[in-house]
Amino acid sequence: MTAPWMLPDFDDHEDVHIFREPEAGLTAIIAVHSTHLGPAGGGTRFWHYAQPEAAMTDALRLSRGMSYKNAMAGLAMGGGKAVILADDQRRKTPELIAAFAQAVDKLGGRYVTAQDVGITQQDIIDIAKGTRFVSGLPPKNGGAGGDPGPSTALGVFLGVKAAVARALGKNELAGVHVAIQGVGSVGGGLARHLAAAGARLTLADKDADRARALAAELGGEAVDAEAILRVEADVLSPCALGAILNDATIPALNVPVVAGGANNQLARPEHGAAVQARGILYAPDYVINAGGIINVALEYLEQADRAAVDAKIAGIPDRLNAVWDESTATGDHPAMVADRMAQQLIGRL
Ligand code: NAD
Repeated sequence: MTAPWMLPDFDDHEDVHIFREPEAGLTAIIAVHSTHLGPAGGGTRFWHYAQPEAAMTDALRLSRGMSYKNAMAGLAMGGGKAVILADDQRRKTPELIAAFAQAVDKLGGRYVTAQDVGITQQDIIDIAKGTRFVSGLPPKNGGAGGDPGPSTALGVFLGVKAAVARALGKNELAGVHVAIQGVGSVGGGLARHLAAAGARLTLADKDADRARALAAELGGEAVDAEAILRVEADVLSPCALGAILNDATIPALNVPVVAGGANNQLARPEHGAAVQARGILYAPDYVINAGGIINVALEYLEQADRAAVDAKIAGIPDRLNAVWDESTATGDHPAMVADRMAQQLIGRL
């Protein structure tokens, strides 16, 4: 097996921990990429990996991503990620969750966990019984925390507005045509904000009934999930899958702006340049979709109230504009610029 520090995704991580509690069925990796700005924040993924090496790659890659995302959100948080290696039955027992909570606790606050794929809100509540280094608990009395989806949707809405102002010179969204791929928690919330602002909507979802129902409710049009990436519109907002900006899709895009909530939209880093070469303004995903992490981070760091969360989310357009300004000045594409800014913020450049 390749040593973790030889893997392509190893990026001078501060520390990488392995926890094994066979009796509890726990095998977990906690990767702390950077604590330069504060405790390493990032969710726990509960996933069955056919090849255990892939779990290490995920922990390394995702923890670095959290460093960048938290830094660009202006949070006093570093980046980390936990991965629990589920068995092929994905058995999750109270003993396993308790053992994982102990693992997080042993790190003494260097790592603060949250929800990610395979971890439920109830799991977070259970983890909190064994450690205080947890974020994303249900909100109390109008405080921060809870479901990150609405906060993410709000940030993406503000980001779309900033992108439209920049690329199209329009300060209002009335009549602006936005095509949304995926109308779940983030895309659905975004559609509601856009409808309230008078935008024209074209919606698509793998669950076609969901897209049709929302289009009927908000007064938009629903199209096939296959067709949405080619729709002629002012903005394409990917809010479903990663890697949707790739060799096949970029040449067919019919929009001047791509700004959406999905993680890892660029299939490979060079696709950032391909989008730029088409004259399309791209909003780097981890900058525009930071509303959810702002919500849970402020809950953990400050026990903030909802107004403080919304005020921080309102800073997303400024951060996007800073990225686009530097992109214009240097000629580098926005995703490359965002990575560079994030590296600077975490003291890596
Ligand atoms: P969700 O599961 O609530 O919604 C995703 C929607 O996309 C579903 O309705 C699903 O049917 C649809 N979908 C899946 N594949 C599709 C396809 N090929 N074509 C069209 N539609 C498809 O998830 P979500 O929480 O809204 O997250 C959406 C994206 O945003 C994900 O990439 C997620 O990682 C990212 N994200 C979410 C948050 C958050 O706070 N929820 C924060 C940051 C990033």
